[in-house]
Order: sequence, then C-alpha cells, then structure tokens
Amino acid sequence: MEFKSINPYNGQVIGIYKEQTSAEVDLKIEKAQKAFQSWRKVPVAERARLIAKAGAVLRDNVEEYAKMITQEMGKPISESRGEVNKCAWVCDYYAENAADFLADEVIKTEAQKSFVRHDPMGSILAIMPWNFPFWQVFRFAAPSLTAGNVALLKHAPNVFGCAEQIAGVFQKVGFPEGVFQNLIIHHTKIEDVIAHDTVKAVTLTGSEGAGKSVAQTAGKYLKKAVLELGGSNGFIVLEDADMEKTIQTALTARMMNCGQSCIAAKRFIIVEGVFDEFVTKYVEAVGKLKAGDTMDDATQIGTLARRDLADQLQRQVQESIKAGAKLLLGGKQNECFHEPTILTNVTPGMPAFDEETFGPLAPMIKAKDEKHALALAEQSKFGLGTTVCTTNIEKALSFAADISDGAYFVNELVKSDPRLPFGGTKSSGYGRELAKNGMMEFVNVKTVYVK
Ligand code: NDP
Repeated sequence: MEFKSINPYNGQVIGIYKEQTSAEVDLKIEKAQKAFQSWRKVPVAERARLIAKAGAVLRDNVEEYAKMITQEMGKPISESRGEVNKCAWVCDYYAENAADFLADEVIKTEAQKSFVRHDPMGSILAIMPWNFPFWQVFRFAAPSLTAGNVALLKHAPNVFGCAEQIAGVFQKVGFPEGVFQNLIIHHTKIEDVIAHDTVKAVTLTGSEGAGKSVAQTAGKYLKKAVLELGGSNGFIVLEDADMEKTIQTALTARMMNCGQSCIAAKRFIIVEGVFDEFVTKYVEAVGKLKAGDTMDDATQIGTLARRDLADQLQRQVQESIKAGAKLLLGGKQNECFHEPTILTNVTPGMPAFDEETFGPLAPMIKAKDEKHALALAEQSKFGLGTTVCTTNIEKALSFAADISDGAYFVNELVKSDPRLPFGGTKSSGYGRELAKNGMMEFVNVKTVYVK
C-alpha cells in the first residue's frame, strides 16, 4: 500500500510513501528500545542542549519547513512560518526548564531521606494529525525526548513529508539514532504497536472517534494514554465588551488555519444587547479576508487540508440551514476550498452548534443574558476552552468556575503557549500537554525512601 501526499490547493502530488511492513515496524520498535537504554542515561543538560539545537535548526530553515506544511495541508505560507517558529519556542522552553522540572523533589517524612525522582518511561507512540503538522509533534516531542523518552511517530498520511522533515531536524542536531522515528503505517496497524511490551504509552491528537479507539486499545494493554481531541469552543461576547478588539480577536479565533484548529472559537455566543452590532461588524471583517494562492504572502484564507473535510463542512452548513439557520456570508465550496461562512439564528440541535465544525464557519448564537450565554457555552460535549469578552475582569473571573473546560480565556482567543498547560475535559480528551504538566505525563514519578 502507498500513501500519497497531495497539495490541496492545486492537486499536485508532493510525495508517495510506501507503507512499512509489520517486520519493518517491529525493527523500529526494537531500535527505539535499544536507543532508550543509552538515551535515558544521557544527562538532562545534554538532552536540553540538543533540543535547543533543534530549535535553532527550525529557525534557520523556516522557509523550507513552512513550504512543506503549506504544500501538504494548504494553510497560508505566513501561518506556516509562524508554526515553525512556535516549534522553535517550545524547544527553547524545555531546554531552559527541563532540569528544574525533572529535578528530584525532596519530601520530608520520618525517613532519613525521601524524595521523588522523575525517570523516563521508554518508547512513547505519538499519533498526530495534519492540522498543525509540525507543532502537534514538537509540543509532544520537546518535553518527552528531553525527559529521556524515545518517540515513535505515526503521523497523518497527508503530511508524511512533514514527518520526514521533523525526523531530519532531530538527525541533523545529533539526537542518537532511534530516539525519534517515523512509522509509515495506517491506523489499522496501531494496535500492534501499542501491544508491544516496550511501548509504554500513547498520545493522540485527533478526532473523538480516533480518541475512543486509542483509549480502548490502550486500556486493553494497560498503557498510559494522553488524548487531545476535538473541541467546540464557545466565544462569549458580553454587553460591555470592547467591540473593536473583540471583532479582531474573534476573527483570528475562528479563521486562523482556515478554521482547522481544535481550540478555534466554533460557537459565537453573543448577548442580545450587542448581537446585531457584533454580527454586522464580524460579517464586514470576515468579508475582507483574502483567499487565494497558499504560497502567496498576502493570502489569509487557504484551502482545507482534504476534499472530504470540505465536504463535511458543507454538509454541516447545509443541514444547519435546513434546520433554520440563516446564511449571512459565504456558504459555497469548490473542491478543497470552502468560503468563510457566517450563519445566524443558530440554535442547539443544529450541526453548527452540536458538532465540531473544522473549517471557516462562524455560527452566531443569541443569548438572552450572561447566565444564558454561559449555559450555552457549557452546552457542548466538548471541553477544550471558552473565551469571554468583557471589560469587567472581576466579573469574568467570577464565571471561571462555571465553565468546565480545560481553559478559560478572558478577552483573548484560546491558544496554546509552551508555558501553560493545555488539554481538555469531556469528549475533548484527557491529560495535559505543555508546561511542567506536559512533561510529567510521560515520566515515572518514582518514590525513593531511605529508612
Ligand atoms: P483523525 O482523528 O481520523 O486523524 C488524526 C490522526 O489519528 C491520524 O494520524 C489518523 O491516522 C489517526 N487515527 C484515526 N483513526 C484512528 C484510530 N482508530 N486509531 C488510531 N489512530 C487513528 O482525523 P481526520 O483527519 O479524519 O479529521 C476528521 C475530524 O477530526 C476533523 O474534521 C476534526 O473534527 C477532527 N480533528 C481534530 C484535530 C484536533 O486538533 N483535535 C486534528 C485533526 C482532526 P490515519 O490517517 O491513518 O487514519
């Protein structure tokens, strides 16, 4: 079997990758285990030095990596550059903080000495998606490799070119062979990998369905799992919001990466008093976005990564309209391209409210008051994050406990930052990435006690 990576903007084939056989995969798993035996003994300072070098290589080759991202998954080139630079940032962050995070933690008891060690676990399987093909990998790999683990990456088949380049970054800076390897396989082969004795844990970023399947398999073999799945973030606009700033934030929150982000604002929930003003200004702002050649610096809206993703969004738009939503802007699809689309009169029961919409679709939802707005935001099976826009910070903070998501942002789009923990609740998965929490997911927190 072969995998083809195809440029969604022009249909050109970028690369063809032959699926690895089970025997080849077994060899890689063995190689990973062998690498782990020495990598785990490399001092943290040396591992940190190497991850810092990986960051430098990313910065030095932004254009090359950004081009591959754009060609394989269709995001505008300017955003791809931003993605590569963010990967460099996460490398710097763990290079600077790994020693602190991994240091022994002395805990006073009646023992002569008692403390906690943070030892690496071994081989970690990472199953990653195409939407941020570099970032999703680096935010896992930077902390995990620096902690002394080794990584097996099963990337999404439409971004196997990015996977190759990522492996090349680690190779270039001198990570020992076997510390980071790609598996060129379809997800149907995942169980064999998870089942392997030396594979200690699995992390997946992807859809809810993939998450359920991986969680089941991980459970079957009693392996630790971290799941970062879909989202349907509420973006709440209260009456006292600073409207100009809110519109700009709302624009990026939904339209960045052509809407293909788990933490994108997917439901705009606006209180009655400012509903018309927000919607009018938002339609105007979205209408000005420039779609076009993804390699052009001026392009702001690219294509969706695959045809089936655009088809799926179109279905969600059409079914929502049939159920009573009103089309204010866009609405059309042409192969992988989907126009930025705004729907109003959106209510629970419509796909635009109930489902994750992974593309440039902004549903406008009217709330009677603040309490109703919070209740609507909570009315989702997902739990990645919520944004509240208001000039009353104290009031916003008083709402924080009522939102059960993994993140709560005031006057800012929900975004990932190496310094802050990232992850969801409910159907958005479990476990945390980034910050100290992310590094701790794949270490053995070992108690040492000396009587
Ligand atoms: P998937 O979740 O199917 O793919 C993401 C990754 O998971 C790929 O590497 C895929 O491999 C793998 N995968 C899929 N099914 C399984 C499984 N049963 N066991 C193990 N691994 C699996 O996402 P799609 O690309 O199909 O996108 C569909 C929808 O998922 C989007 O519209 C969006 O709603 C959501 N999504 C969310 C993301 C996020 O950031 N949270 C990222 C991507 C998608 P393979 O390709 O071989 O199946």
